[in-house]
Amino acid sequence: MRDFFVFLGPPGAGKGTQAKVVAARLGIPHISSGDIFRENLKNQTELGILANEYIKVGKLVPDDVTVRMIRERISRTDCGAGAILDGFPRTPAQAKAFDEILKEIGCQINKVPYIKVPEKVLIARLSGRLTCRAKGHVFHKLHNPPRESGVCDFDGSELYQREDDKPETVARRIRVYEEQTRPLVEYYMDRGILVEVDGDRSIDLVTSDLINLLEEVEKSDV
Ligand code: AMP
Repeated sequence: MRDFFVFLGPPGAGKGTQAKVVAARLGIPHISSGDIFRENLKNQTELGILANEYIKVGKLVPDDVTVRMIRERISRTDCGAGAILDGFPRTPAQAKAFDEILKEIGCQINKVPYIKVPEKVLIARLSGRLTCRAKGHVFHKLHNPPRESGVCDFDGSELYQREDDKPETVARRIRVYEEQTRPLVEYYMDRGILVEVDGDRSIDLVTSDLINLLEEVEKSDV
C-alpha cells in the first residue's frame, strides 16, 4: 500500500522541518512544492523563472502549473511506498486535483496532520528564519542558531534569509494562507482525516507526535 500524507499548517508552523525528519524516519520521500520551485529557480528553468514571479511577492503560483509539477513528481519511482507532501495542496482546487491524481493510481490520502501555531509565533519564526542554500535546512537567528554564524550545521553551505521571509512578504503570505489554504482544513476535516497537532512546542515533541500518528496508518495497512 502506498501511504500519502499531507502536512497542513500556516507558513512558519514547522511543516518543512517536520516533514523532512518524519519522511526520513518512515523511509519515504519528502515532497515540498516550495523547495521544488526554489530548486528550479536555482537552475533557471522555465518553471522556476515563472514561479518566482509569484513567490517573490508572496502570491501563490497558479494551480495548473503547480498540479502538473506534483503529478510528475509523484510518478517517480521513489514514491513507490508513498510520500509526505509539504506545501501542496494549498488551495481547494489543488486538493481536488490531487484526489483525482491519487485515484488514478489507486491511492488516497490517509492522514492530514494540521500543525497549529498562534499567529504572533509564526511571524517571529518566519522573520528570524535562515535557510541553507544547498538543501533547505532551516535555522532561526534566536531560537535555533547554527553553530557557526551564516553556515549550515549539516552541509556547510551558506545560510540566507529567503526573499519571502522579509516582513512585508511574511504578512502577505499569512493573509494568503488564511484566504486560500485554510479552507483545506475544513475540506479534510469533513473527510475525517484531519488531525490537529500543537506546533507551539519543541521540534522533538512535535516530531514524536507526528511519527506516532503516521505509524498508526502504516500499521493498519499490514
Ligand atoms: P513554501 O516553501 O511552502 O513556503 O512556499 C514558498 C512559496 O512557493 C509560496 O509562498 C508560493 O508562492 C509558492 N508555492 C509553494 N507551494 C505552492 C502551491 N502548492 N501552490 C501555489 N504556490 C505554491
